[in-house]
Amino acid sequence: MNSTRIRKAKELLSKKDQPIVIVTHTNPDGDALGSSLGLFGFLTYAGYTNVKVITPNSFPSFLKWMPWQEKVIIANQNKKEAEKAISEASLIFCLDFNGLGRVNGLEDQLRSSKAVKVLIDHHPQPEPDFDFSFSNTEVSSTAELVYDFIVAIGGEKLLDKKVAECLYAGIVTDTGSFSYGCNQPKTYLITANLISLGVDGEHIHRLIYDTYSVDRIRLLGYCLSQKLIVLPEQQAAYISLTKNDLEKFNHQVGDTEGVVNYAMSIENIHLAALFIENRDHIKISFRSSGNVDVNLLARNHFNGGGHRNASGGKSFSNMNDTIDRFESILKSGKL
Ligand code: 5GP
Ligand code: MN
Repeated sequence: MNSTRIRKAKELLSKKDQPIVIVTHTNPDGDALGSSLGLFGFLTYAGYTNVKVITPNSFPSFLKWMPWQEKVIIANQNKKEAEKAISEASLIFCLDFNGLGRVNGLEDQLRSSKAVKVLIDHHPQPEPDFDFSFSNTEVSSTAELVYDFIVAIGGEKLLDKKVAECLYAGIVTDTGSFSYGCNQPKTYLITANLISLGVDGEHIHRLIYDTYSVDRIRLLGYCLSQKLIVLPEQQAAYISLTKNDLEKFNHQVGDTEGVVNYAMSIENIHLAALFIENRDHIKISFRSSGNVDVNLLARNHFNGGGHRNASGGKSFSNMNDTIDRFESILKSGKL
């Protein structure tokens, strides 16, 4: 952050009693929640007395250990409280998304809000929905940017174990435990600083990754043994899950998180997809390696977006038509 931007950020934060909202994207993941709660903890320690965190919908149970998670206003369960917080806010931090269309249910209210909107995010092509953007696609996670933001405005001394745990969780989950999006030394320098603040990385890894329910692990087994389709010529693989499949395994929020990565772990597979049947659409996750750009695939064909190697979208056709379209796009060779 250059000095003009640092001055601007400090100016925006000059009043300690102003109503501040921190909002993140639909289906919040570890980085969405970790960066939001890390910023919340910091602002609270810094003396801001009216800070609220809003998620559009609920987050997976494997994130429910995070400090301050019990304070989150889950908008689709508590719409009035979320709308009141947004209508009263004078400053809104938008974390881990690049356009207000990613905040289902609150988009219109956020758009019409008079509050100053500050984006902190690492997705490509941010939309012009924000008054100030701290956007950088070169970093592992939004948590890393929140760390930088705190240090840049002189808040490093206020960082403690609890804030560090939130930010650490963001980095760990967005890099798949340091396996992608983490080729910059800075990611490790920040991580080292977080560990120095007392984070027990092994413990957090267990809380996030070793807390599967029996149903969740059996669903994973079913996906791999029964539902995995490999397209060797396209160097692609995909898994699809119907509502019926999900019901059989008593599906809970977060149970399909990470499933798509197993398809990516097959030798010579450079593109993977997971199709999940929801009430009124098919939710799609894409992953890729190297130059295969699934952000383009999601943007151009599936009403979505994301990063080059991890993106998502939606289809409003049925499962068969969606998969047919996906296969024919791959066969055409033009994402
Ligand atoms: P996931 O597959 O884990 O849901 O999402 C992977 C990445 O794609 C994340 O960075 C997420 O922010 C982005 N993403 C997922 N769904 C959508 C979507 O519907 N629209 C856009 N623009 N990005 C999405
Ligand atoms: Mn992220």
